[in-house]
Amino acid sequence: MRRPPALILGGGPAGAAAAIALAQRGIRATMLERAREMPDALCGGFLSWQTLAAVERLGIAPEALNPNFITRVRLCVGDRVAEAPLPAPARAVSRARLDTLLLERAEGLGVGIERGVTIRALEGRSVRLGDGAELTGDALLLATGKHDLRGSPRDAMPHADPILGIRVRLPASPAIGDAVELHLVDGGYIGVAVQEDGSANICMAIARSRLQAAGDPLALLRALATESPMLADRFDRLDPSARIDAVANVPYGWRTSTTVDDVYRLGDQAAVIPSLAGEGIGLALASGVMAADAVAAGRAAADYQAAFARRAARPLAAAGLIRHAADSAAGARLLLAATPIPGLARLAARLTRITHPSH
Ligand SMILES: Cc1cc2nc3c(=O)[nH]c(=O)nc-3n(C[C@H](O)[C@H](O)[C@H](O)COP(=O)(O)OP(=O)(O)OC[C@H]3O[C@@H](n4cnc5c(N)ncnc54)[C@H](O)[C@@H]3O)c2cc1C
Repeated sequence: MRRPPALILGGGPAGAAAAIALAQRGIRATMLERAREMPDALCGGFLSWQTLAAVERLGIAPEALNPNFITRVRLCVGDRVAEAPLPAPARAVSRARLDTLLLERAEGLGVGIERGVTIRALEGRSVRLGDGAELTGDALLLATGKHDLRGSPRDAMPHADPILGIRVRLPASPAIGDAVELHLVDGGYIGVAVQEDGSANICMAIARSRLQAAGDPLALLRALATESPMLADRFDRLDPSARIDAVANVPYGWRTSTTVDDVYRLGDQAAVIPSLAGEGIGLALASGVMAADAVAAGRAAADYQAAFARRAARPLAAAGLIRHAADSAAGARLLLAATPIPGLARLAARLTRITHPSH
């Protein structure tokens, strides 16, 4: 059985950060990734100033992601709007660009990336591939994202009305400007930001019941566009042939402090933060670097997992509270009233951000 010193399963932000950090620490790593070309994963693509600093420590210039800054947050509920400056400039980037740059950097540092390889199951410390081959690693890093891999299920509670991710890209309304928008709607929220190609990335997390009530994703977008003048403007350029992506059952709030078979769980395989905080990629990068540090120091996966869970606890709790508030009409009104209060947006940002390990 093939056995590289470090075997990374999945090449999203968590796996890529681990690969780069391992290479920076002189550890030879092999990565298995299902996609041949990095797909444009469904994501808001908002990167906070802290995530941008983490990206830079991994060797990627933030301006290579998107030369333009996001400087404000705009909260919209129906026809009411509140704005606040962000504590520091952020950027929005498509995942195709972010993931491609991260993997190119890993490859440049000598990481062996095997693309187009589907992992069928993780059984103990043995990884079974689509073609039946088996391999393992001295260290195994699991970074396959929010959904379960066979043999490695999570204890996420089934939800009566699970959250879906839905994303469409449209020509940007000039009214978006340099803001990240959060439109709170019945059953979820819609995030809007202008990405590096000038398009508006409109990405939402919304209860499945809303999709069922509308009938299909296009009908849901059209229904949402009737709920506020701002959403009507953002969806104004919605073309019936626009590509609409969807992902099912996002297990928000799930977090593990334990692991089995000495597998290091990274990114969404370690903790899934409610996405309206725009911090999932931050968590993914932090977990990858922390796991690389643990592998380099010979620390057991269980110790890493407990330490990462402690570090992720506050951001997950704070993002969960904000999400919970946003879910009710009274809570949404409270968030609207609180947004312009000086210092509050900064406090919310601080509470929902993970502390990154220093390199
Ligand atoms: C609606 C929504 C909006 C979001 N918006 C933001 C945002 O604005 N900002 C932010 O920071 N975060 C956001 N997030 C969260 C963010 O997308 C995730 O937290 C982040 O992608 C986690 O990174 P990861 O590397 O753990 O997993 P992923 O990005 O999911 O990467 C997993 C990788 O593993 C590969 N893989 C999976 N299964 C297999 C297999 N069986 N075999 C081989 N390869 C496999 C996949 O191809 C993929 O490349 C959002 C999430 C949602 C749902």
